[in-house]
Amino acid sequence: MNIIDGKAISTQIKDEVREKIERDGIKASLAVILVGQDPASTVYVNNKKKACEYCGIESLSYELAESTSEEELLQLIDRLNKDDKVTGILCQLPLPKHINEERIIDAISPSKDVDGFSKLSVGALSVGAKGFVSCTPAGIIELLKRSGIEISGKRCVIMGRSNIVGKPMAMLLLRENGTVTLTHSKTENIREITKTADILVVAVGKPKMVDSSYVKEGAVVIDVGIHRLDPEKNNGKKLCGDVDYEDVEKLASAMTPVPGGVGPMTIAMLMYNTLEGALRR
Ligand code: NAP
Repeated sequence: MNIIDGKAISTQIKDEVREKIERDGIKASLAVILVGQDPASTVYVNNKKKACEYCGIESLSYELAESTSEEELLQLIDRLNKDDKVTGILCQLPLPKHINEERIIDAISPSKDVDGFSKLSVGALSVGAKGFVSCTPAGIIELLKRSGIEISGKRCVIMGRSNIVGKPMAMLLLRENGTVTLTHSKTENIREITKTADILVVAVGKPKMVDSSYVKEGAVVIDVGIHRLDPEKNNGKKLCGDVDYEDVEKLASAMTPVPGGVGPMTIAMLMYNTLEGALRR
């Protein structure tokens, strides 16, 4: 069984971004907006800022109070949309309950929507037009390609149909000429479908749900899930995915671990998209 090394591949991508920025003297600048002080969001935002620093991308930080109104946030986004210096805008989710996330995300200019979450970016992906692609699924395509895994003609099954992972994943695998099936919580006899997969992407948000009974021998298994564990009850392990790794590794030909698989790729692709934003300008 081959372990797909997301940590190494994400470093490779960040190094490529850094080299391009240095070599061509590109000025890229990412505006990162955080509303409130959610601890997990604060960690994600700090990791994004560190990655910017590593790549030579300027990060502009907007840390706003929990009480910020939707109107104030829309005004900030409008200002950043118009600011030529800013090449990417990111608004960390989730937002406080009194703010409509959809309105905020759709207010970001498609030319700066480096998360690829707005309706215009998603629509562009669906019809194969140019636009930013959601970082997690884009990262999974890079993991497969850079690990020498053929997608064209292969049976690809995705578990989960969220807007940020499952659906864009389906579009991207289709673009790579995979034969794609999207499954979800209402899918009947789901194992009959997942057991046909040459490439199985699991994004169900349920710790260790997918065991070997879901997997065909020789399949490539991509685990998108991230869940915190109590290390004292789990032999020192702090994280697990949606896949029961120890059980599935007996059957799979290649797998992503958690941590060190899909997770690091998301930030690397954010850096890639921010560079793209600067180049397109
Ligand atoms: P989500 O919005 O909760 O969606 C979960 C999807 O799984 C839904 O479509 C749901 O179906 C489906 N599902 C739930 N139970 C199922 C079952 N028993 N069989 C088949 N499908 C089932 O989750 P998400 O945002 O896509 O995230 C999924 C996981 O990936 C989470 O653990 C999240 O933390 C992780 N994640 C990681 C990264 C990263 O950077 N590595 C990025 C994003 C997300 P219905 O639509 O029918 O409800």
